[in-house]
Amino acid sequence: MRKKTKLIHGGIPQDEQTGGVSFPIHLSSTFKQEKVGQFSYEYARTANPTRTALEQLIADLEEGKAGFAFASGMAAITTVLKLFSSGDHLLLSEDVYGGTYRLIVKVLSREGITADFIDTTDLDKVASAIQPKTKAIFLETPTNPLLSITDIKKISQLAKDKGLLTIVDNTFSTPYWQNPLTLGADIVLHSATKYLGGHSDVLAGLVVTNSKELAEELAYLQNAIGAVLGAQDSWLLIRGIRTLGIRMEEIEKSANEIARFLEAHSTVSKVYYPGLLSHQGHSLHKSQAGGFSGILSFETGSEQRAEKLIGATTFFTLAESLGAIESLISLPARMTHASIPADRRKKLGITDGLVRLSIGLEDTADLLEDLDHSLKQ
Ligand SMILES: *Cc1c(COP(=O)(O)O)cnc(C)c1O
Repeated sequence: MRKKTKLIHGGIPQDEQTGGVSFPIHLSSTFKQEKVGQFSYEYARTANPTRTALEQLIADLEEGKAGFAFASGMAAITTVLKLFSSGDHLLLSEDVYGGTYRLIVKVLSREGITADFIDTTDLDKVASAIQPKTKAIFLETPTNPLLSITDIKKISQLAKDKGLLTIVDNTFSTPYWQNPLTLGADIVLHSATKYLGGHSDVLAGLVVTNSKELAEELAYLQNAIGAVLGAQDSWLLIRGIRTLGIRMEEIEKSANEIARFLEAHSTVSKVYYPGLLSHQGHSLHKSQAGGFSGILSFETGSEQRAEKLIGATTFFTLAESLGAIESLISLPARMTHASIPADRRKKLGITDGLVRLSIGLEDTADLLEDLDHSLKQ
């Protein structure tokens, strides 16, 4: 089955009982048992049929053995990181999502888990950062907001050789473009709030693994912690995922045109988009992913100029988040990455004049005209 077909026919596509072509929303929180201990569903925190349909769908899409759905991307990440305990050490991409950084530095540190945030695009740096107590490498590729690319295959191989797990946050690429498990990763996770939901109307997180042992542990943690996705949101997410392919294709076409336009624009000094030949990770990304998604960042030169541009656009909504049908614009240094100390931001290259776009499904010509007009302000 090819990807677009799998998006439609993956998981549990229909309701066997009624023939309904849309899988129903099962709101029951508890289920009748035939005899004590004899049941297919027991209690909705442990499993709910609508959530199961979603979990099978994401497992199919990521080529994994088992999928798990959570109330948000952060709930998914928190549950996965509960695989680790006091004394364990983790390695993460240095420009990992701000919420992941905060969770580890401010919350998991209280439980005695330590971590280093390193440049995972550099294999030697990763190898030399591994300590005897290191248990996992957690990476994002592309990263936010500078779209750095890490070699999933090489990192996974290194991790395997050292007995570590590889965990990939695949939010930016989605399973439509990139499947980290097939490249050697052990766990792939998503903020499904972004492209998978796709319509800015559901908050959710998804996790997939291809290891039977990890699947058992994750199922245990999912039930024990209970940060699960509700039935209505599971249904909404299934509906969003069905159209992921066509959305990702259209968004990428638009994003490519916009990235090229910005690169040629006299007021823009630098554009970060993995689809551009000038991007450092272009060929590596192309070797491990089928497409480039719709997030790009560019340098306007100063916070003042960035704010002027943001104020002048018509079709780009000033908002956090990404990956939906409407185009969004943001100023990472003051918004998504504001919780990162200024000196660390500077080191990473997240300047005050850096603007991030998430391209939506509007007509590309309107988006280009809007940007052109706003950049001239
Ligand atoms: C948004 C995001 C998250 C967190 O997801 P929520 O659904 O907001 O909890 C994690 N990782 C990445 C890459 C994200 O963009």
